[in-house]
Amino acid sequence: MRHGIWVASACIWLAGCSAPAGIATPTQPVQTRPVQPLIVLDPGHNPSDGGATSVLGTREVGYNDRFVAELAPALQQAGWQVKITRQPEESMSLIGRAQVANELRATVFLSVHHDSVQLRCLRQVQQNGRVAFQTLKPTSGYSLYVSKENGNFARSLQLATDLGEQLRALGRAPMLEHAGKTCGEGRPLLNPGLGIYRYDHLAVLRHNQVPAVLLEVGVITDVQDEAYVDVAANRKKMIAAIVRAMGEFLHS
Ligand SMILES: [Zn+2]
Repeated sequence: MRHGIWVASACIWLAGCSAPAGIATPTQPVQTRPVQPLIVLDPGHNPSDGGATSVLGTREVGYNDRFVAELAPALQQAGWQVKITRQPEESMSLIGRAQVANELRATVFLSVHHDSVQLRCLRQVQQNGRVAFQTLKPTSGYSLYVSKENGNFARSLQLATDLGEQLRALGRAPMLEHAGKTCGEGRPLLNPGLGIYRYDHLAVLRHNQVPAVLLEVGVITDVQDEAYVDVAANRKKMIAAIVRAMGEFLHS
């Protein structure tokens, strides 16, 4: 995950930056919400930072880009508009990602990541001559994050609940290690059964005015879980679950 960076900035409120969503400046027309629901998908990290390093020595950003590239057409087929914050070769700031959703007045923002644990619970391994990391004990599952500082916390939590219920129904338990202080960060769990954490300072969530959730698809520093997310049929099942969850959320 490696979300330790919180970018403090009041940029969006200052001259020279974009006006906050819903507030029109004299030179900007008021943007109305799109007729069709618009889902903003955000592949976590940038090519330069890469996020976590998997057991196979693959950087997290590649997993995030691939999952979003497969999720986007599935959501479009269900009848919704999709905007991806950045293409695989592009970089974008954390606040910039939230601004995409705010400026488009999106219906939903979903940031996609792949997980790891604290370094003290990883062992360093060599993979084709490259340094890679592996969990000391089996650690698997998805998890979901919401921020109380998000512009619409209630709907963000509803979206996380819909996502958690559908992902849980696939038979894969949520990853709860982040609640602990050994392999995690003592992160508060809002719903242990569905793997929903509260993480107020996550920049992509707290700077978002629209309902926003961060999804950790699986733990890529775990041998079994990296193998799970690397199988196309498993991703297809998870993507179908996310489409069902979006359907429930958008009709609620
Ligand atoms: Zn990440």
